[in-house]
Amino acid sequence: MSDNDNTGNAGNIDTSGNTPPDADPSFGFATRAIHAGARPDAVTGARSTPIYQTTAYVFEDVDHAADLFNLQTFGFIYSRLTNPTVAVLEERIANLEGGRACVCSASGHAAQFLTFFTLLEPGDEFIASRNLYGGSITQFGISFKKLGWTCHFVDPRDPENFRAALTPRCKAIFVEQLANPGAVVVDVEPIADIAHAAGIPLIVDNTVPSPYLFRPFDWGADLIVHSTTKFLSGHGNAMGGALVESGHFDWAQNDKFPSMTKPDPAYHDLTFYETFGDFGFTTKARAVALRDFGPSLSPANAFYTITGIETLPLRMQRHTENAQAVAEFLEAHPAVAWVSYPGLKSSPYRGLAKKYLPVGCGSVFTFGLKGGFEAGVKLVESVNLFSHLANLGDTRSLIIHPASTTHRQLSEAQQIAAGAGPDVIRLSVGIESVEDLIRDLDTGLRSATAD
Ligand SMILES: *Cc1c(COP(=O)(O)O)cnc(C)c1O
Repeated sequence: MSDNDNTGNAGNIDTSGNTPPDADPSFGFATRAIHAGARPDAVTGARSTPIYQTTAYVFEDVDHAADLFNLQTFGFIYSRLTNPTVAVLEERIANLEGGRACVCSASGHAAQFLTFFTLLEPGDEFIASRNLYGGSITQFGISFKKLGWTCHFVDPRDPENFRAALTPRCKAIFVEQLANPGAVVVDVEPIADIAHAAGIPLIVDNTVPSPYLFRPFDWGADLIVHSTTKFLSGHGNAMGGALVESGHFDWAQNDKFPSMTKPDPAYHDLTFYETFGDFGFTTKARAVALRDFGPSLSPANAFYTITGIETLPLRMQRHTENAQAVAEFLEAHPAVAWVSYPGLKSSPYRGLAKKYLPVGCGSVFTFGLKGGFEAGVKLVESVNLFSHLANLGDTRSLIIHPASTTHRQLSEAQQIAAGAGPDVIRLSVGIESVEDLIRDLDTGLRSATAD
């Protein structure tokens, strides 16, 4: 497989005629995490992907320029659309997800916006799991309303809830895997069947598992979104997002997706599905939504993310091992009422986790304190190694008490429904020495329960 024939991504620069293992699907995950999409720099031989801190690219001649603008050839025009460093990251993420093509964006929320702008018309609707990252609930429930898009939230624990919420103007189903905040394992396969029976795509937010732990396309998903800010970049130092398409969804099976199947006046009447086929969706997201709204990923953040992904398999193994040990420690602790981690025997998600997450259940989960709200506040203030902040997927261990921070605007009933009641603590377990993490939590729990 060559690096850029018809991937829909601009691809990177061909050098010597050697074919490095940049996209060979027979290589293992760890090999592709390092090599997919990347080859030595054509001019300098630089082995790791350089930061192309550049905005614009010279045309060979007028015909070449015309072909690029007509989307008749792939290449670089302007970094709002494509950039050589970003293109390597796009190929790498598409490869790791087993997808056809990918478009990156400035943040995870930007990737969600690009996805829904490409899917929906004003007046359209979609269904989302109610167990989502808090920012996604606000984006879908409030900000998208201003664009004329309505989101219906349902409890994901019974897949039939999605079928029951379908309406004629529903154009997609959206779920998060290992969903926030309590690591809810969503039964993706039957939900994909329900979406497909309705002629609409299933979108999976795969941020928390990362493609190392979960592969949504294997279970029927059609589109994947990522906040690469989290485990993919992995070090708490680069914002970013990604939209990946499987290439298997038939956009022409019904008349629900005029944006894919009708001539587009925003692109001189090009019909994206007819012209680009199995990478038509990401091409449209790039050529129209990214072009016209501009939430592009910076080349420097693409570089940090490419570098982060090279150690994704090692980091996810350690994150998962540490989380398992911390969850077992907490479950046995007298100050702790319950632990919601699918790697525990006590978890109601054990069976689903075995099916969908055979390698491990990640490192983001919640637990409840017998001492309630007060104990939660004391705990986040008494730990030292765990950082008290609103993020996840860092090398560092992170802790938050949602009821006093991210969920403080909600009523207690809403907090409980969101899995963020007054007693709940969320951890994102890092890759430090696990004994140190356990000692830090033990000290914190002691001060949280002392009076
Ligand atoms: C962080 C996050 C997002 C939003 O991504 P940003 O990069 O912060 O815009 C979406 N979904 C999940 C699961 C997240 O953790």
